[in-house]
Amino acid sequence: MSGEHQAARPSWDCAACARPWPCDPAQERLATDTGGGTRLAVLMWTYLETYCSDRHDGPLGEVFERFIAWTRRSRAPRMPIGGPTPTRSGERAQA
Ligand SMILES: [Zn+2]
Repeated sequence: MSGEHQAARPSWDCAACARPWPCDPAQERLATDTGGGTRLAVLMWTYLETYCSDRHDGPLGEVFERFIAWTRRSRAPRMPIGGPTPTRSGERAQA
């Protein structure tokens, strides 16, 4: 299907926009498909392994940045961490 932001192997450029995959639209789709978080990171790790078997060039750090690092920057709406924010912020438990 044309217009899909898929990796064109073995170049790993986007088939739709020719940018290094995953391009921005691909990242958004992957994040949406997986719901983000760990599932997204694990999925991208499988892509990284495939990339490494296709291409044996490039510092691993750059490959990691390209495939994994962006998954840890939350593009999706953030989930609250540690429960609801205390509303009575002026009060603290007694020491
Ligand atoms: Zn693209």
